[in-house]
Amino acid sequence: MFKPHVDVLSFGEIGGVGEMTYCTVRFPRYELRYENDAALLCPRYEENEQLIDRQADTLLTGQELLVSLCNLYRAINDPACKSNPIDMIAEWCSSNIHPYHVDSLYDLANDAGYDYDSYSDMIMQDGIFSVDDFMRDLAPLYHTTCFHHALLQLIRGNDVFARELYYEGRFNDGYAFFEKYKYAPTVENNLCSDNLLAEMLENAQAESFEDHCSDNHQEFRQNPLQDLEYLHTTLLSLFPEFKMKLRKDAKTNRILFAADVYSVFDLAWYALSRSVANDAPDYDLNPNSMYSDGTPMACLHCGNFFIRRGPRQRYCTNPSCQAARQRINQRNLRERRRIQQQQ
Ligand SMILES: [Zn+2]
Repeated sequence: MFKPHVDVLSFGEIGGVGEMTYCTVRFPRYELRYENDAALLCPRYEENEQLIDRQADTLLTGQELLVSLCNLYRAINDPACKSNPIDMIAEWCSSNIHPYHVDSLYDLANDAGYDYDSYSDMIMQDGIFSVDDFMRDLAPLYHTTCFHHALLQLIRGNDVFARELYYEGRFNDGYAFFEKYKYAPTVENNLCSDNLLAEMLENAQAESFEDHCSDNHQEFRQNPLQDLEYLHTTLLSLFPEFKMKLRKDAKTNRILFAADVYSVFDLAWYALSRSVANDAPDYDLNPNSMYSDGTPMACLHCGNFFIRRGPRQRYCTNPSCQAARQRINQRNLRERRRIQQQQ
């Protein structure tokens, strides 16, 4: 139900980002080509193949795109992953959306005068993109999403994601913003201490930063929340700026004020911005209130990102994760019964 004043002024209504769906182009295949040592993915399609998916219910929202891109990078950057990252990227693009020139390719493919012979060469030429660019665009999006998620969880009293934010990836390491809190306060922090022996002992115990970086399970020795202001500023500084313009939502046909997009990364950054703007002012200690529907969450079992559909959802829809959730619920239930019986 439309509520004047309230709905019009909320960010969601003005930006409409989470629900914003975009018209996109999808190529069935990509060919790999090298130019001056740079790997290029070149889209290919035949006359009988559709570039535009006319079924509105298969269109991705910004949130879905963000989740899908994060899971792609998580898989590519996993040190245990043996697959060729170029194949993984091409596969993602042909099953989701072409990553660059989002608007202009759609306009070409949707042009009233479109015919394969006169348009296809231009479309395939414009669609060529460099694998390095894709990886350079994808990595910060993923790491920033993880940082945002870790910070949210930390505020809620769960420090697991913050402790594991830094990791050594196959191509790129996680952000190390929380690592310094894993080792003991330095001497400067303890100037008021007049116990020299205790200070020397503490210094001897404080291991090097690098030692701690490799140990994701290390407990925090200082609470990172003491620097919450700084951590928030750092998080916000990682976001790009957006050029805004009026757009028509592909699914609802409503006109929205939204980001001008060139790539899927613009779309995903924009969706993430909305998530951060939604979550940031909420310091209510109700553990369910921060998770507004549509907030990307990391599954407690497999770690993949998913879009939350209810306030209590902590696991993705993968059957093995749902089975894990049920096992844990049953264990908790047995534990509660045991405690009740003892009382
Ligand atoms: Zn899962």
